[in-house]
Amino acid sequence: MLNYTPKEMVEREALVINPCKTCQPVGALYAALGVHGCLPHSHGSQGCVAFHRMYLTRHFKDPIQASSSSFTEGASVFGGGSNLKTAVKNIFDLYDPDIVAVHTTCLSETIGDDLNALLIDITPTLSEGKYIVHANTPSYFGSHIHGFFNMVNGFMKYLSVSTGTSNGKLALFPGWLNPGDYRELKRLMTQMNVPFIMLPDTDGTVDTPTTGEYTMYEKGGTTIEEIKSLGDCKSSLGIGLTISAPSVGFLDKKCKVKGDTIPYPIGIDATDAFILKLQEFSAEEVPASVENQRGHLVDMMVDTHQYTYEKKVAIYGDPDFVIGMMALCLELGMIPKYCITGTPSLTFEQEGKSLLEKYGVKEECKVQAATQLNTTTDLFLLHQWIKNDAVDLLIGGTHGKHIARAEDIPLVRAGFDVIDRYCHSYFPVVGYEGAMRMVEKITNALMDYQDSHCEEKDVEMVM
Ligand code: SF4
Repeated sequence: MLNYTPKEMVEREALVINPCKTCQPVGALYAALGVHGCLPHSHGSQGCVAFHRMYLTRHFKDPIQASSSSFTEGASVFGGGSNLKTAVKNIFDLYDPDIVAVHTTCLSETIGDDLNALLIDITPTLSEGKYIVHANTPSYFGSHIHGFFNMVNGFMKYLSVSTGTSNGKLALFPGWLNPGDYRELKRLMTQMNVPFIMLPDTDGTVDTPTTGEYTMYEKGGTTIEEIKSLGDCKSSLGIGLTISAPSVGFLDKKCKVKGDTIPYPIGIDATDAFILKLQEFSAEEVPASVENQRGHLVDMMVDTHQYTYEKKVAIYGDPDFVIGMMALCLELGMIPKYCITGTPSLTFEQEGKSLLEKYGVKEECKVQAATQLNTTTDLFLLHQWIKNDAVDLLIGGTHGKHIARAEDIPLVRAGFDVIDRYCHSYFPVVGYEGAMRMVEKITNALMDYQDSHCEEKDVEMVM
């Protein structure tokens, strides 16, 4: 399918081919799914929300629910205020959520609907104990990552308060991860004896167990009371320098809860940093079970290093995921030849370059994020780079599969979105556990390639 991608590179300014991101509302919708009893609501036309739901459904293989203001020509000309009022009434009458999280779309942003003003009118009509929040998510700026943190901040803007009495908890902003990752973060915090509130938390909302009974709102998700109580937390911790720093800053500004942001805990160093932050909070010893897990990971890396050492890898996807995966690959002795994200990120290139320096990588590597003015950091560009100087492995989502096929390079699927494989979202990439899983996947992909591409006489039974 991509056999005709040209090797010759031509300067592009306005044309994006196979973008390495999606639109803001997808992120806002996902963040809202991590709140218990919440119905995400898309303020725009039905086409937008159909796409957003389909996108997330394909990744999680679970039905994703969201409502829509159902704009038609009238709303596009006269504004969507009356559509929103009708929608909110219908939603609470028919679907009875505890909270509705409204995000905007390109259309409602372009016509200039003032959601702050509209909600001032709508909120007094809600019954006791029912809530509505909103986030502006114009898709001509940023990506799904911006939509995600805008919605996290939207919840805090409407709900979080500082009562002046500390709840002694850690406010954890985990960034955009799969439910399997959220479970792993919670498991580590519990093992480290850290009381916490995590926003959002899709463990138990987009990966619900099959019980034979239908429930509209599943057991999982951060509760409204927990979001309110974020303002009373002792401190906060953001996971992901691009995605979570804005939420750490927002909670500090609104409720004076001080915090810090660290990279996604992918690989040994970054997971150590997460564990040390938890230890700082709890002032307790790291339990033997966590130390053992770390030891297992080191053992696996030693066992497999001869297959990963100096292998060149291209990593693409969300900025914090790519930086995390880059760190793990460097720990495995690999060369992160090309690392790209379609999300504009101020810290991405800086972080990537300091990782390369830290590991003394001599090979010339490219680390590039899209910017608001230059959005052409896309998978087409990555493919052209690979055509000019090949790599041994690709790590990223499904949209790289055509490059993998055209260039005959093994692809390890990870990050967002993975829409052509199953079960992945149940398992972590974060923590020592997640790194073990990735070491297995990376090594096996390289060994499978060797098995299927070497000469008959070189096929080994024991490797
Ligand atoms: S119109 Fe905007 S909000 Fe709607 S799907 Fe397209 S990019 Fe997303």
